[in-house]
Amino acid sequence: MGRRAAFLDRDGVINSYVYNQEFGTVDSPSNAEEFQLLPGVRDAIARFHDMGLLVVVVSNQPGIAKRKFSPEILDATTEKMRRLCDGKIDAVYYCLHHPHAADKRYECDCDCRKPKPGLLLKAAEEWDIDLQASVMIGDGLTDVMAGQRAGARTILAGTRKCYVCAAMDEHGVTPDFCAATLSEAVGIVESMNLSTDLITRESLRI
Ligand SMILES: [Mg+2]
Ligand SMILES: [Zn+2]
Repeated sequence: MGRRAAFLDRDGVINSYVYNQEFGTVDSPSNAEEFQLLPGVRDAIARFHDMGLLVVVVSNQPGIAKRKFSPEILDATTEKMRRLCDGKIDAVYYCLHHPHAADKRYECDCDCRKPKPGLLLKAAEEWDIDLQASVMIGDGLTDVMAGQRAGARTILAGTRKCYVCAAMDEHGVTPDFCAATLSEAVGIVESMNLSTDLITRESLRI
């Protein structure tokens, strides 16, 4: 029997997006300075940790492939994230690929770019994670899809991406739960009895 994990998307769940005044766009942080935790995230991660869940970040980070930042800058950003979360993030898995990368070394049709489940599957193998007893929390359709494909429960977190709902209808994808913030998502996970649910689901199949 493997361990339970909380798989967390990064941008929009752990840290805020960054508004670029020059271009009028909202994007993920492009350096460690721009990386700021969303309110309540530090406590939410501590609560997952206290519940005995592995905290695993799974995130598409095509910024190196797009030549937006260097591998060193991504490392520094990851270090800051781990530090701000008091070292309670157990593992971080990034997909660095992009199908149309500026840096051709990162251009490929990989198995790990969400909505594909590769990052979760790799983490499950390396950390002996029971995916069906685990939960994927993200603010995007691709997070819900990756979580479902890996066999995990899913929580759509966040309130700012209104277009996600329309996209979910279009693709027929529905998360198990919705939460405004990661704090709210922890409350949902606390009230879920994943092992009981699993037994129920398995007995229904008989
Ligand atoms: Mg996100
Ligand atoms: Zn990848």
